[in-house]
Amino acid sequence: MTEYDAVIVGAGIIGLATAYHVKKQQPNDRVVIVERMATAGQGNTAKSAAMFRCFFASNTNLTLVDTTVEFFKHIQNELGRDLKLRWAGYLWLFSKEHYKMVEPILRAMSRNGLSHTVYEGEELVERLNLVSRVSDDQEAQIIGLSDVEKGVFVPKAGSIDIDLLVQFYEREFKNMGGIIQYNTRVEKILVEPKRPLNMPDEPFFWQQSRAAGVTTNRSIIRAKKTIVAAGVWANSLLHQVGLYAPMEPIKRQLFSVKAETEELRKLLHVGGLNPEHCMPFTILPEPTVYIKPALEEEAFWLSYGDSFPREFKLEDDPQPEENFYRYGIYQVVTKYFPQFSGAKPYGAWAGQYALNTIDGQPVILEENGLLTVGSCSGSGNMKADAIGRIAAALYSDEDYADLFGGKRFKVSDLGMLKRKVEREKLII
Ligand SMILES: Cc1cc2nc3c(=O)[nH]c(=O)nc-3n(C[C@H](O)[C@H](O)[C@H](O)COP(=O)(O)OP(=O)(O)OC[C@H]3O[C@@H](n4cnc5c(N)ncnc54)[C@H](O)[C@@H]3O)c2cc1C
Repeated sequence: MTEYDAVIVGAGIIGLATAYHVKKQQPNDRVVIVERMATAGQGNTAKSAAMFRCFFASNTNLTLVDTTVEFFKHIQNELGRDLKLRWAGYLWLFSKEHYKMVEPILRAMSRNGLSHTVYEGEELVERLNLVSRVSDDQEAQIIGLSDVEKGVFVPKAGSIDIDLLVQFYEREFKNMGGIIQYNTRVEKILVEPKRPLNMPDEPFFWQQSRAAGVTTNRSIIRAKKTIVAAGVWANSLLHQVGLYAPMEPIKRQLFSVKAETEELRKLLHVGGLNPEHCMPFTILPEPTVYIKPALEEEAFWLSYGDSFPREFKLEDDPQPEENFYRYGIYQVVTKYFPQFSGAKPYGAWAGQYALNTIDGQPVILEENGLLTVGSCSGSGNMKADAIGRIAAALYSDEDYADLFGGKRFKVSDLGMLKRKVEREKLII
């Protein structure tokens, strides 16, 4: 039986980025990814809105995202592999009260060189044909909507075709000799004593033991190191061996609305705000429903990340809820953008965030030869490359990871024992 150096569970964006960087750092190591689905990136990676923004107050967030996005640019511009990067920018719409709270944070970010433009509500009314004053509307009062006082536009932000990024990592990993076994479900982590005595029921609690690979529905795969990058499903495997990733699965849903009317087409292709000549990714005041311009489909994607009383529950095939759109998103969006009046979704889907409820940051750690990489909390795609590099550095027993562009990142900062992450102050 072949013994691999590393077996990675999961060919989502995190498993793939990790595999790619492990192979880059250790070209002679034999690395295999095991994925239960038929192709790569079909878990929550495929469900994503695929947006990114290099605009965070937390240094941890900014470093993970900015180096990843610079790598995206490198792939597209220097390596010539199109990722369909679109620089639509982010536009946050703020109420007066909320803007007052974030203004000092925005100023500090500006001093740190993070560029953004502040628009008056009235200017946005002209540019986007939005309704900034909703407080006179009775329904808006019932929902609790606020008037738009300001808009903050962030230019270093946009979208990526996540499938093309998946293909990049997958192909490069395979070109370096990496192996992927599809349609293979990992059923458990194989645990063995470090010094086997060949007694039944080993390992005993007095023996030092380690992860020695995985048992799948097809065979046993032995490996020196086992890496679990199974997204929201990670704990199904980790719990079996008394470990866990700090994360709760929570449903997130997206609704796609075609720009079928003249008014919606005008909104989608509005000029003067970004190089794509389109509506920026727009986040409404509380409740922060968001609208993504999906130019390839001549559509908008609409969503809202709800919390209490949304349950934490692991689901293999979560379904979008019609009434979440009809009585939720639609009611809010049409108050600010009447262009959406009468618009019905032509497509909808749901996935899950692996939400780290402690600090919202990824977790990368190793215990007894078992690495856990995940808990990406809804920003796994925009942080994927940095996470892959940090996981690969941990695999190689390095204290620091070299992120794209040369920035160094202390590996233990994303572990649990010596965790050191900067909390995000720009909460929108
Ligand atoms: C609706 C929605 C919108 C989002 N929008 C954004 C966004 O705009 N920007 C952003 O950066 N992020 C976004 N995210 C988050 C992002 O999609 C995730 O953080 C990221 O995809 C996580 O990648 P992953 O590889 O950890 O998980 P996954 O992509 O879920 O990969 C895990 C893989 O492991 C496999 N697997 C699990 N268990 C087993 C097993 N036992 N055996 C074998 N294989 C197994 C699964 O089949 C799957 O392929 C969004 C997520 C959702 C749901």
